[in-house]
Amino acid sequence: NLYNMVQDLKGNIRVYCRIRPSFTAEAKTVIDFIGEDGSLVILDPLKPHKDGRKVFQFNRMFGPTATQDVVFKDIQPLIRSVVDGYNVCIFAYGQTGSGKTHTMSGPSGGSTKDRGINFLALNYLFQMSDRRKDIINYDIHVQMVEIYNEQVRDLLAEDSSTTKLEIRSCTSDNGLSLPDATICSVKSTTDVLNLMKLGEVNRVVSSTAMNNRSSRSHSVLTVHVHGKDTSGGILRSSLHLVDLAGSERVDKSEVTGDRLKEAQYINKSLSCLGDVIMALAQKNTHIPYRNSKLTLLLQDSLGGHAKTLMFAHVSPEEDSFGETVTTLKFAQRVS
Ligand code: ADP
Ligand code: MG
Repeated sequence: NLYNMVQDLKGNIRVYCRIRPSFTAEAKTVIDFIGEDGSLVILDPLKPHKDGRKVFQFNRMFGPTATQDVVFKDIQPLIRSVVDGYNVCIFAYGQTGSGKTHTMSGPSGGSTKDRGINFLALNYLFQMSDRRKDIINYDIHVQMVEIYNEQVRDLLAEDSSTTKLEIRSCTSDNGLSLPDATICSVKSTTDVLNLMKLGEVNRVVSSTAMNNRSSRSHSVLTVHVHGKDTSGGILRSSLHLVDLAGSERVDKSEVTGDRLKEAQYINKSLSCLGDVIMALAQKNTHIPYRNSKLTLLLQDSLGGHAKTLMFAHVSPEEDSFGETVTTLKFAQRVS
C-alpha cells in the first residue's frame, strides 16, 4: 500500500511521537497544535508569544486521545515485515512518567484493556503465522532482559538476580546475541502473558531493593521468528521491543554515589543509541555499536535491511517543558 511505499522511500528509520493525557483536566499543557501530517507545535510557558513556539516534524504524531489500537495500526506494517524476514527494533524513549511503559506494556496491574505493543505485536505475529500456515511453518521464541548499569540480566531466568549475561557480538550459529539467556517457545497469547508476568515480577523484585529501578534500566523483549516454507527455505528474523530508561537529566549537584553512577550510565547509553541511529540515517561507514551494551546487543537488528522505530514520548504538563524539548530534539535529530 501507499503508506508502506512512502515509508520505504524514507529509508529504514522512522520516528513517531506520542503525548500522554494530562493527569488533571485543569492542568495547562504545552501543546499548541498536533497535525495529521506528523507535525507538532509546542508553546514555552514562559514565553507564551510567537517566539515561544517550537515546531517539530515526525513521521507520525499521536495526541493524548490516541488509543492503543490507533497507535498499533501504525506499528502493524513493521510487525508484518518481521514475518517477511526483516529485523525490527522499536524503542520507547522519553522522560520517566511520559508513557513509555503504557505504550509498550499497557497499564500496570495486568489489565486486559489497553494492552500495549508487546502484546499486540505478538498477537499479530500469531495471526500472521496462522494465516500463512499452508505455505510457511513459523516458530516463535522470546527472550527478555534488562540492562542496568551496563550489565545485562535475564528476566526469564529462575534466579534472575544473579545471572549476568555476556553479549556475543558476532552472532553465534544459532543466531543469538545472548546465547545464555533463557529462551522460551511461545504458541499463544496466553504463553506470552505468562512470560510477561514473570518478567515483570523479576523486574519488580529488584526495584523494591533499589527504589524504582525499572525507570533506570532498559528492558528488552526480543521475539525470534523462525520460518520454514514448504520447499525447505528458511527465514529468520527478530523483533526487539525496548522500553528505555528514563531520559531525564539529573542535576549532578543533587545526586551522588550509586544514583549518580546510574544517571551517567543512562546518559551514556541513550546518547550512544542516538549516535548509532544518526550514523545509520546518514549512511556513515563507521557505526559506533560498541560504545554501549544496548547497541552491541541490537547490532544485528540496527542497520542493514533492519527497520527501526524511535518512538518519543512526552508529558504535556508545563513543568515538563524543558524535558519535552530535549526529548523532541533528540527524536528529531535521528529522523
Ligand atoms: P514511563 O514508563 O515513561 O515512566 P508510564 O507508562 O508508567 O511512564 O506512564 C505514567 C503514568 O501515566 C501511568 O500511570 C500510565 O498508566 C499513565 N499513562 C501514560 N500514557 C498514557 C496514555 N496514553 N493514556 C492513559 N494513561 C497513560
Ligand atoms: Mg516505565
